Amino acid sequence: MGITLENVSFTYQEGTPLSSSALTDVSLTIEDGSYTALVGHTGSGKSTILQLLNGLLLPSKGSVRVFDTVITPTSTNKEIRQIRKQVGLVFQFAENQIFEETVLKDVAFGPQNFGVSEEEAKKIAREKLALVGIDESLFERSPFELSGGQMRRVAIAGMLAMEPTVLVLDEPTAGLDPAGRKELMALFEALHKNGMTLVLVTHTMDDVANFADTVFALEAGKLVLNGSPREVFQQVEYLQKLQLGVPQITNFALQLKRRGLSLGRLPIKIEELKELLLHE
Ligand code: ADP
Ligand code: MG
Repeated sequence: MGITLENVSFTYQEGTPLSSSALTDVSLTIEDGSYTALVGHTGSGKSTILQLLNGLLLPSKGSVRVFDTVITPTSTNKEIRQIRKQVGLVFQFAENQIFEETVLKDVAFGPQNFGVSEEEAKKIAREKLALVGIDESLFERSPFELSGGQMRRVAIAGMLAMEPTVLVLDEPTAGLDPAGRKELMALFEALHKNGMTLVLVTHTMDDVANFADTVFALEAGKLVLNGSPREVFQQVEYLQKLQLGVPQITNFALQLKRRGLSLGRLPIKIEELKELLLHE
């Protein structure tokens, strides 16, 4: 079933003098079980797309089909309530959304809000906190005593506690140190291996190459590239024009190519470069 955007346009503050067009005629599909990366320069419309995927924003034109629910410009809150649970959206700087007095209560809040008993919600919360690597000794602490990276993981656990089918992540590693980034990317990979559909907005092309199976690139509200990372990263010049760049290995291979090494295609991962060199 997946999620399909069909000819979606979106305008903020439509019909007012402040009206600004964020997306124009975007059509794309997020396949069930895929790991989709969404890339694009700042302001290209990435966060707007993410909010359309879970019904937080309604399309101004076109439609968004999430599993078997179709969201149109006139959908009501009641019609899309279920989708918010199925498609979990983790905002950029998700830690800003934390508000409860203890870590455990914060993570249990979502399921409780959807009618799960307090006891059951806390059980789910413990499980999800363990999954994101938050030590039990922190469960009764105020979330505001934690480090930035820990707070972000608590926020992600809060989303996982809703047991969504699709997890949508808006620049989840922004502002973290390299170790924190690596841990989060490993967590997402584990979730994906467990069957979760992932949608990741990132500026890190290496993460796209190493983890995603599909990539969409946006430019000024329009979808300009889509395919597997391997296909998309062959278009080095175009990506540079979009100010996106390519993975480090692709860049390195490009330098070798410019110095005369013949390579059939550009590798996007280190293992691939090794293989290409062995067959040289
Ligand atoms: P990205 O996430 O790729 O940086 P956004 O989806 O946030 O892009 O923004 C797309 C466009 O919509 C930009 O031009 C941005 O200025 C505009 N925009 C985003 N949010 C709002 C808003 N709440 N009100 C008005 N314009 C907005
Ligand atoms: Mg954004």
